[in-house]
Amino acid sequence: MSKRVVIVGAGLVGSLLAIYLRRRGYEVNIYERRGDMRLQSVAAGRSINLALSDRGIRALEEVGAMEHIRPIAIPMHGRQIHQPDGQEVYQPYGKSGQYINSVSRGELNKTLMTLAEEQGAHLHFQHRCQQVNWSNNQFVFEKADGSEVRVTGDLVFAADGAFSAARLQYQLQHDRFQYQQSYIDFGYKELTIPAGANGSFQMEPHALHIWPRKNYMLIALPNPDGSFTCTLFFPYEGDPSFASLQTDEEILAFFRSHFTDATALMPDILSQYRNNPTASLVTVKCYPWVLGDRFALIGDAAHAIVPFFGQGMNCGFEDCFVLNTLMNKHGENWDALLQEYQTLRKPDGDAIAELALNNFLEMRDRVADPRFLLQKKIEARIHSQHPDLWVPAYAQVTFSPHIRYSDALINSMRQEAIMQQLMTRSDIESVWESPEIEAWVIDKLHKR
Ligand SMILES: Cc1cc2nc3c(=O)[nH]c(=O)nc-3n(C[C@H](O)[C@H](O)[C@H](O)COP(=O)(O)OP(=O)(O)OC[C@H]3O[C@@H](n4cnc5c(N)ncnc54)[C@H](O)[C@@H]3O)c2cc1C
Repeated sequence: MSKRVVIVGAGLVGSLLAIYLRRRGYEVNIYERRGDMRLQSVAAGRSINLALSDRGIRALEEVGAMEHIRPIAIPMHGRQIHQPDGQEVYQPYGKSGQYINSVSRGELNKTLMTLAEEQGAHLHFQHRCQQVNWSNNQFVFEKADGSEVRVTGDLVFAADGAFSAARLQYQLQHDRFQYQQSYIDFGYKELTIPAGANGSFQMEPHALHIWPRKNYMLIALPNPDGSFTCTLFFPYEGDPSFASLQTDEEILAFFRSHFTDATALMPDILSQYRNNPTASLVTVKCYPWVLGDRFALIGDAAHAIVPFFGQGMNCGFEDCFVLNTLMNKHGENWDALLQEYQTLRKPDGDAIAELALNNFLEMRDRVADPRFLLQKKIEARIHSQHPDLWVPAYAQVTFSPHIRYSDALINSMRQEAIMQQLMTRSDIESVWESPEIEAWVIDKLHKR
C-alpha cells in the first residue's frame, strides 16, 4: 500500500485513473505537460465535445464520478440524418431508454482533475515527460522554465495520449517493442453552429446529427449553451477535399450546395473554415503495454483509434475499470495484475480499433444508402424479436459493457456475413418482415 504511483498525463484517462488509485490508498502524483485548464481559458485539446456511453459511464459510476458529470451531459437518443435533398431521417440508437451523451471534453476533464485532487492526488502542471531511465523507473520532466524534475515511481502509468512520450521512450530503449501507427486519408475540422435566440438550440438537441455525403461527412453534437460543435471529416486530397477547396467562392459554394441547412446556421462559415485547424486521424497499436510490475500504458497511449464509434475515451475509461477489477483479484501482486491487464485489454484495444475503422466506412458510405437502411431495419426487427440472440454491433459496443470489444467484433462479423447473404435476395424489399426471413436468420445464427 506504500507504492508511489506516478501518472504521466492528466487528460481524461489519467485523471480518472488517479481517482481509482487514490481510493485504494496509493500515493498518486500526476505530471501534466499543459497548464491547469481550470485556471486558464485555453482550449482543452482535441474536439470540443465527446460522446460518452455505457462503458465510460460504468467506469465513472464505479468511483462516484458520474453524478458530477450527469448534469453537464446532453442525452442523444438517435442519429438525425440530413440527406442531400434536405430531408431528415431519424434513426434511434437502440431500444427505448438507450442513448449516448454529449459532454464537453474540457468540463469533463476539469471535473475529473478536481475529483482526483479531492481524493488526495497531487497534480503537477507544466511538466513535460522527456526521458525515462528504465533501470530505476526514473522519469524526467521538463518544466515551463526549462528546468528538469526527476521523479521515481514504484509504479508508473503512461496516460499521455496518442503521441505518448513515455511510450516512445519504451520503444527507443527496448528491443522487440512493436509499434504501428496508421493515418486515414481523411482529416477533420471543427466548426460551430451558434445558439439561437436566448441560448436556444437551432436543431434537435437530443440527437447526433449526420450529413453523410458518400466520400465525406459532417456531424454535429449539442453543447449545453445551445450551440452545436460540428466536425467535418473530409479527404486531404482529391475532389472535393481540403486540398481542392482553395478560394472563398469554392468553399462557400461547396458548403451551400452540400450542407445547405447547416451552412444556413453558420453565417461565419468561411472564416471558421479558414481559421480552424485541420487535424489528422491516427490509429496506434503497440505491444507490450506493460513492463514487469512497474509500468503500464493506458488510454490513447496504448490504443489510439479513429473516432467513428465514439469509443476512444470510453475504451480508456474501461481500461481503468478493468484495472480496478484486477486490483480486487490480485491485490498487491502488480506483476500478475499488469500481465492480466495486458492479456485482457490488448485484444480489446485492437478490436475497437477495427470496429471504429469499419464504422467510418459505414457512416461515410452507407448510412445514406436505402439498401443499407433496409438492412438496418431488418437487423432492428430481428433484434426486437430475439433481443438476446441478435444485438446490433453498435448496441454491443455502445450499450453492452458486459460484452468485450473483441467479442463484439467477432459477433458483428458473423452478423454482417449473414446480412450480406440475405441482402442478395432480389425480393428482400417485399419479404423482409415475413416469418420466413426471421426463421432463416435465426437458423443461420444457430449454425455457428
Ligand atoms: C475528433 C475526435 C473526436 C472524438 N470523439 C470521441 C467520442 O465521441 N467519444 C469517445 O469516447 N472518444 C472520442 N475521441 C477519442 C478521445 O478524444 C480519446 O480517446 C481520449 O481523449 C483519450 O484520453 P487520454 O487521457 O488517453 O488521452 P488525452 O486525452 O490525449 O490526454 C493525454 C494527456 O497527456 C498530456 N501529455 C501529452 N504528452 C505529455 C508529456 N510528454 N508529458 C506530460 N503530459 C503529456 C496531454 O497534455 C493530455 O492532457 C475523439 C477523438 C477525436 C480526435
